[in-house]
Amino acid sequence: MDRIKDLLLSLVAPNNHRCYLCDQECPASEDGLCENCRQTMKLAISPAPPAGLDGLTAGLQYSDALSTVFYRFKKKERTDYTPFLAQFISIPQEWHAEMLLPVPLHWLREYYRTYNQSYLLSQYVSARDGIPICRDLLVRTRPTPQQKLLNEKQRRRNLKGAFQAAPECKGRSIVLIDDVVTTGSTLSECAKALKKAGAHRVYAACVACTER
Ligand SMILES: [Zn+2]
Repeated sequence: MDRIKDLLLSLVAPNNHRCYLCDQECPASEDGLCENCRQTMKLAISPAPPAGLDGLTAGLQYSDALSTVFYRFKKKERTDYTPFLAQFISIPQEWHAEMLLPVPLHWLREYYRTYNQSYLLSQYVSARDGIPICRDLLVRTRPTPQQKLLNEKQRRRNLKGAFQAAPECKGRSIVLIDDVVTTGSTLSECAKALKKAGAHRVYAACVACTER
């Protein structure tokens, strides 16, 4: 229903759109935000990389408003959020990134969700920064219960050995792409699997991180 309303609005007032964060109507802007959200949105200041990673960037500090955005992006097929969210992913030059690797979902979860949100973000970053995506470097070998229902120790146990890396990652500088970093245990497990298979450097670039 919202989409029909948006479509009609865009026909009568083509320069107005809804702010990605608060969902209020506002003048269209390059970053997709209204003035108020732009002022109050918190940028993340160089978060510490989780174990096994050589570096981490995240553009935004996680907030209630963002949690709604990620919910729609991941669970409600609002894939039109991709450019808005991906603009906050940054890959520093000094990483000498050779490949982007979206954090894989188990195939069963991807089948039900119909898409991997990290892959959508990677496509945008790949086109913007000219770095190829190599999805086949890592597979999730078994489905794992949702991390957010677990504490940190359980998270680590839940993910142990859940990823397997391909030999093609040997000697490469790889950047994992994900939407949100919370404890970092998923990224950590991915990095461990990649390093075990011989990856030279493993970094992660994300849209947002929680305060850790
Ligand atoms: Zn707003």
